[in-house]
Amino acid sequence: MLDVNQVRADFPILQQEMYPGVPLVFLDSAASSQKPTAVLQAMEHYYRALNANVHRGVYRISEEATHAFELARQKVANFINAPDAAQIIFVRNATEGFNLVAYSWGEANIQAGDEILLTEMEHHANLVPWQMLAQRKGAVVRYLPFTPDGLLDLSNLDELLTERTKLFSFTAVSNVFGTINPARRLIAAAKAVGAVTMVDAAQSAPHMVVNVQELDCDFLAFSGHKMCGPTGIGILYGKRHLLEAMPPFMGGGDMIRRVTLEGATWNDIPWKFEAGTPAIAEGIGLGAAVDYLTNLGMDNVHAYEQFLTSYALEALSEVPGLKVWGPPAAQKGGVAAFTLDNLHPHDIAELLDKDGIAVRAGHHCAMPLHKKLGLSATTRASFYVHTTTAEIDALVASLQRVRAVFRL
Ligand code: PLP
Repeated sequence: MLDVNQVRADFPILQQEMYPGVPLVFLDSAASSQKPTAVLQAMEHYYRALNANVHRGVYRISEEATHAFELARQKVANFINAPDAAQIIFVRNATEGFNLVAYSWGEANIQAGDEILLTEMEHHANLVPWQMLAQRKGAVVRYLPFTPDGLLDLSNLDELLTERTKLFSFTAVSNVFGTINPARRLIAAAKAVGAVTMVDAAQSAPHMVVNVQELDCDFLAFSGHKMCGPTGIGILYGKRHLLEAMPPFMGGGDMIRRVTLEGATWNDIPWKFEAGTPAIAEGIGLGAAVDYLTNLGMDNVHAYEQFLTSYALEALSEVPGLKVWGPPAAQKGGVAAFTLDNLHPHDIAELLDKDGIAVRAGHHCAMPLHKKLGLSATTRASFYVHTTTAEIDALVASLQRVRAVFRL
């Protein structure tokens, strides 16, 4: 088990008070996580000691910056067990990973009448790029439904996943229900009909072991900022033969081998997909985040969050009128999206903030999911390596005060 007090000492922001005598209780890691000192120091070190563009200079600090940046790529490859660092494309965030595949792979491989299968619990990042692609191509988007418990309903999988399906893209962990989806089973089913697979790992890579070779997915995307790293850097993993066959997404410096006034030829992967000066400090910061999480141990991270989730669901069940959406703790990551009677989630979140508690209120970029539940919004508390049971108790006590304020 993690030593949470030791972990908390690594996150300087947690030492802050929101109001005099009221400490920050940060329960919004699913939106963006806090950063440990090691990540802040790695980025500061780059700017103080190595700041230079990468892949270009022949002078010492440029070479050192290039080495640090490419080492970060190797660290990410190891983190998700990618066969080769060349299969790790640095993008801005998970969203850009989906857009890159939707344009680069999608333009070349999707035809009119083809089907793209998604699920009803997707984040907009894994919905809108495919809807846009389908519109451009005259393709059809279909959706795997979820059950009232927030689990994927696999009873009609055979009807939805057919030889017409060219791509199946789904989230490994829902950012609203917290559902841990059966990724390996879904990928195997997609392979059986010859569909290409893409996994949204935005909510899994920060919280559990992700092994792309074991999953056997074709593409996988996640964001640095949800896993202790900085904003502005994300990862797209792809199988080598697919990445090599794909045309570039954007043109510019670094992604070319040779340019003439008549045209250009492309660099090797991964650089073929990284036009222009990359997010260097952010890449190095992500490398430090990967080191940090690896030192904690992703199995320990997952086990601790499972413990917290069970604790939280039990504690929240004491609040009358409160419903947590999604499956029971055993099938769920560290996310509790809830409603409290018919109070507006924004009112709840504002009152929680008075007690220093940061939660997210809204549709969490999953409008179709909320629509199916007949809701416009939920309040979401999400947990990470620094969350304590005392913070969950503080959330529950504050929710009891919210009930009192509204005379429930
Ligand atoms: N997918 C899921 C499941 C998410 O939770 C998020 C972010 O909330 C994203 C994709 C998109 O991440 P980003 O906004 O960093 O691109």
